[in-house]
Amino acid sequence: MNHTLPPLKFGPKDLEPHISERSIEFHYGKHHQAYVNNLNKLIEGTKFEQASLEDIIRDAEGGIFNNGAQVWNHSFYFSSLSPAGGGKPKGILGNALERDFNSFSEFQEQFSIAANTLFGSGWVWLVMESQGKLKIIQESNAGNPIRGGLVPILTCDIWEHAYYLDYQNRRPDYIKSFWEIVDWDIIAERF
Ligand code: MN
Repeated sequence: MNHTLPPLKFGPKDLEPHISERSIEFHYGKHHQAYVNNLNKLIEGTKFEQASLEDIIRDAEGGIFNNGAQVWNHSFYFSSLSPAGGGKPKGILGNALERDFNSFSEFQEQFSIAANTLFGSGWVWLVMESQGKLKIIQESNAGNPIRGGLVPILTCDIWEHAYYLDYQNRRPDYIKSFWEIVDWDIIAERF
């Protein structure tokens, strides 16, 4: 299977001032594309040549796992963002966040703390456990919760390449901006 870079559902400037056109150009155009290209090279002639990204995340090791998971993680991250995002989720997801975190603002605070305290490169996730309970987890490097049998609902990219052009070392400012562009309609569909 030849993996491809999924199109963005917004223009490269549309997330400004939260994420700049230049940042999208590098993060999506260079980093995300490079993971796709690396994966396609690495799977050639292996048992993962026809595998889905999810199967690669569950079963692969080393470079194939790292690049496959990074392709999936970035597609999931970019598809969560919208210039019309922000606010908070209504309906079933809104109710579940209140049930499991007491309130939406408490969920947001706990997720932000997890994002700000993740050491090194990685991802912060809102995931669903098998009984439907929501929880926040940190994953290092290319980590993806599918590997641990959890269902991903929302993620934030905490690699420096995600924010350094716009925010340099000010990771908390990047996290604050992230909440302005999260598309809760998309996230609610995943739940
Ligand atoms: Mn990234």
